[in-house]
Amino acid sequence: MSQTTTANQAGAEALSSICRAILDRRRFLLTSHARPDGDSIGSQLAMAYALEALGKEVRLVNADAAPDHYRDFPGVDRIEIADRSVATADALIVMECSDLSRTGVAGLDDHFIINIDHHAGNRMYGALNWFDESAAACGEMVFDVIRGLGVPLSPDIATHIYLAILTDTGSFHHSNITPRTFDICRQTVEAGVNPAAMARRVFDSNSFGKLKLIGALLDSMELIDNGRLAVLTMDDEMLKICGCTHNDTEGVINLPLTAREIQAVVFFKIGSAGEVRVSMRSKYDVDVRAVATAYGGGGHKNAAGFTVPGRLADVRPPIVDRLVAAIAEGLKSRP
Ligand code: AMP
Ligand code: MN
Repeated sequence: MSQTTTANQAGAEALSSICRAILDRRRFLLTSHARPDGDSIGSQLAMAYALEALGKEVRLVNADAAPDHYRDFPGVDRIEIADRSVATADALIVMECSDLSRTGVAGLDDHFIINIDHHAGNRMYGALNWFDESAAACGEMVFDVIRGLGVPLSPDIATHIYLAILTDTGSFHHSNITPRTFDICRQTVEAGVNPAAMARRVFDSNSFGKLKLIGALLDSMELIDNGRLAVLTMDDEMLKICGCTHNDTEGVINLPLTAREIQAVVFFKIGSAGEVRVSMRSKYDVDVRAVATAYGGGGHKNAAGFTVPGRLADVRPPIVDRLVAAIAEGLKSRP
């Protein structure tokens, strides 16, 4: 009880310091993590529209372009893509990044940094830091900032907050969803969001190439640990055959979890520079973040990732062993 109160008080203080710092400043640079997802895009653009409603100047920079199905959301075309930023601003707002290097953008260090994040292990690298692991999406925290600034939810702001929550909860599947999640979504719907249209735009806008890729990945899926762990593997050749890019892999990892027996999924993407990108998803209390942190990565209990140098044949066995152990541990507390 007292711990929760302290966490909330600390959060409330961080939130009000952030709102004051924003109101006192004029020019802002907003960024988020490399290979952005719906939460990073949604958080960044909801914040951008809110700051502009207050008459602030806003620039956005990310290391990588947004996945195709987010490109026609409002403002996505305004995000500058660069691996080094030369923009100067009165404050840099970093969302969704447990440390500054997660941005993949160099040249950011000298700014007055406002760090807003919900990933466990946040390094508190800002002049102001608000870290709330209980938020189902960073977009929930951005919502609080927007309310704290006194900015009404415009349709564009509401769209991006809803996008952040819809995607980061794995379309309302993950274990960190709270009444607050739905309360925020209710307010976005009241502000004009159409949940059915959003679901179609985000989840039902695949290319034919992506459907082929899904087929190829599921066809070559391996089942381990009596079907409790699914292993997906992809290399550039598979992408080429299906006419896809890396962006088309988004969301595919969630499909094996629709099988009742499967408790966790690991997706190995073999990179062209001798590295393997590892994404993981799980159900209930199976903690894949613990596996990611062992390799210097991060994420959440049910969704985490990391990149490891080396050949798949060498890096795979210990990762699979750790996942099998995480499944056994997680199943102990199964509801
Ligand atoms: P992904 O599998 O890439 O969709 O990532 C799942 C979750 O893990 C997201 O919340 C990511 O932000 C987080 N994540 C992925 N890779 C890393 C990493 N290298 N370091 C920290 N967090 C990561
Ligand atoms: Mn997030």
